[in-house]
Amino acid sequence: MEFQKDDIITLKIDDMGMDGEGIGKSSGFTFFVKDAVIGDQIEAKVMKVKKGYAYARLTKILVPSIDRIDPKCPYHRQCGGCQIQALDYKAQQLFKERKIKSNLRRIGAFSQELIEQITEPIIGMEEPFFYRNKAQFPIGADKNGNVITGFYVGRTHTIIPNTDCALGVKENKTILEMILNYMKRYQVTAYSEKEGRGLVRHVLIRKGFATGELMVCIVLNGDKLPQMDKLVAELIKVKGMTSISININRDRTNVIMGKVCHTLWGRDTITDVLHVRSIESINSGKDTYYADDSGITFAISPLSFYQVNPIQTEKLYSLALEYAELTGIETVWDLYCGIGTISLFMAKRAKQVYGIEIIEQAVKDARANAERNGIKNARFYMGKAEEVLPKLYREDGIYADVICVDPPRKGCDAACLETIVKMAPKRIVYISCDSATLARDLKYLCANGYVLRRVRGADMFCNTVHCEVCVQLCRK
Ligand code: SAH
Repeated sequence: MEFQKDDIITLKIDDMGMDGEGIGKSSGFTFFVKDAVIGDQIEAKVMKVKKGYAYARLTKILVPSIDRIDPKCPYHRQCGGCQIQALDYKAQQLFKERKIKSNLRRIGAFSQELIEQITEPIIGMEEPFFYRNKAQFPIGADKNGNVITGFYVGRTHTIIPNTDCALGVKENKTILEMILNYMKRYQVTAYSEKEGRGLVRHVLIRKGFATGELMVCIVLNGDKLPQMDKLVAELIKVKGMTSISININRDRTNVIMGKVCHTLWGRDTITDVLHVRSIESINSGKDTYYADDSGITFAISPLSFYQVNPIQTEKLYSLALEYAELTGIETVWDLYCGIGTISLFMAKRAKQVYGIEIIEQAVKDARANAERNGIKNARFYMGKAEEVLPKLYREDGIYADVICVDPPRKGCDAACLETIVKMAPKRIVYISCDSATLARDLKYLCANGYVLRRVRGADMFCNTVHCEVCVQLCRK
């Protein structure tokens, strides 16, 4: 059967794609329907027809899936943030597990049997909302020229006014309203991406969950705010306010932050504490913080990379520690180490830890974090993992018992993987935010002397399609 644009079809959604889109078949044709969830029976309008498949827009839910729930956020369909908020949380976790397993099978060429045998249940959250410790809100103007803030409509740069995102902390709303009121009162302009004019571009808000410390950084197309003290006087009324700064970004780019920050009030950084958790506590499914002495303190500046879900981060790093099987005598390399979070978790249980990270500021932060926590057996190198590691191996013959990698979405570079294989550590712990590139890299490692032993997902980004996964490889 031939389908044409604007045809109305009915479909049963029986799968979900990598981006959370519903997938259904009609007369041998595959349809991709955003906002439809697995199990839904729907009516949809055909939008774009390709060879053998088409995109359609959800027009009516005829019979809702048993896993469909009322989303908390009224904007979830427009906003690009939470692709699967309409799916019950248990079903979200199953979706992510399926995605990980399917990538391991299709891309990694691992057998279904092995995958089922070694994959442990995904680590979810008790409360999958209000988990983000960081938010970056764009500032703009509506049709009538009023300043607004909120979230970009999926795949566009149009702002939906909303100061109350269900993934963020409650202080976001208070702080954003103070900033909007101040802007109205003193006629401070919002930056327009289209025209490259106007002053205030973005507001970054961060909170240390363990400390309650708050950071506000206002990104400007300029170097100062008019009546700055008036705004500061308001913001410091918010409980926990610790650092208020501006960031200068005069470039016509969609990169949010510029390179330079100036502190207007308070400290340059906020601190947070991450604790090592026992596997039993992780398996208990409880999200509570453990205020014991296993905590490591981190200073976070507006420009630092820091995991956005601190509750799940503790669980993920503790899992990585478990997979590393440290006894205190090991030499560990932590590649893509950021501000040294995993390195410092490992340092307390290893003889020596070395980290490699590409961003200079992050390396400085990592060293300062080691010192802050009195950790003396962690050393950090700046540069690309795929350059620094081979060079040190060639010139100094470096050694590792355990190598931990936590690369960005594109995964590890071939030169990095080759050197890892040459260094022949007993164990490799691979943390990944993209199971497709993970599967590709595992295929290489398993063709070169390693066996995949353990796999476990950690849901760091509840209500979105993204999923973190941690695996353990052992040398044959
Ligand atoms: N392990 C850290 C950071 C993980 S994010 C944590 O959990 O906090 C990935 C990190 O890899 C980022 O800090 C990024 O700056 C760094 N990075 C990206 N490409 C890199 C490369 N080629 N070599 C080394 N580090 C890189």
